[in-house]
Amino acid sequence: MDISPKVRLFVAQPLGGGRAVALDQAQAHYLLHVMRAGPGTMIALFNGRDGEWLARIDQVSKRGATLMVADQTRPQSAEPDLWLLFAPVKRARIDIIVEKAGELGVSELFPVFTRHTVMTRVNGERLSAIAIEASEQCERLSVPTVHEARSLEEMLAGWPAGRRLILLDEGGGGRPVAEAFADLGDGPAAILVGPEGGFAKSELDALRRLSFACPVDLGPRILRADTAVIAALSCFQAICGDWRVPPGALL
Ligand code: SAH
Repeated sequence: MDISPKVRLFVAQPLGGGRAVALDQAQAHYLLHVMRAGPGTMIALFNGRDGEWLARIDQVSKRGATLMVADQTRPQSAEPDLWLLFAPVKRARIDIIVEKAGELGVSELFPVFTRHTVMTRVNGERLSAIAIEASEQCERLSVPTVHEARSLEEMLAGWPAGRRLILLDEGGGGRPVAEAFADLGDGPAAILVGPEGGFAKSELDALRRLSFACPVDLGPRILRADTAVIAALSCFQAICGDWRVPPGALL
């Protein structure tokens, strides 16, 4: 019998054997009407703190559903400390950025307004929902935090000591990505991607001069912001993160 659950849900409540977990209306609707699950069905739950658990659908009503938590399937484990700073872009692409950042292991997401950012508002609630769905789907044990949008200046003014800023530099001012990442070290890092219009020349010059910046070149083609995020995160995870290569091995 295949007992691997088809549904994986993120919940806020604490998880532990024998605990009851109430789902809200939207999650219950998804579970009962989209996934067509019913009482007795086992699903997987995680909350970003207590690992992953199997839970049985216990009671269902019009307003929600209650689950009974059974056994733990995975303990909580450490994940990379990797931030993504991104200029808000149009709806379809910002959604892709958040979804792919979630799948590729970003821990914190910061929408930042740069000089050429066209979008003036960010729907944080929608982005958080996308981040949750991405974690549910890719079997992550945590959900990246989506922070409130702020200006890039404000973000840089409060920059934490010791965190490298990987600047995705479309102006050719960066080092080839594999080489730059191989030299990065294993401290905390953040990746910064610009908007559709790119960084302003003066902005890029100032960013390149920051003591904690590491300008990176993703190649001779100008990528869309969402493509640049996926490319940079994949390289980061291959070289510095999930499949960390010993220093010097790529040189
Ligand atoms: N309109 C701009 C391009 C912006 S692309 C222009 O023509 O110059 C959006 C963002 O993706 C850039 O700000 C940069 O952060 C990133 N990016 C795109 N291509 C890149 C490359 N080849 N190397 C590094 N970063 C890149």
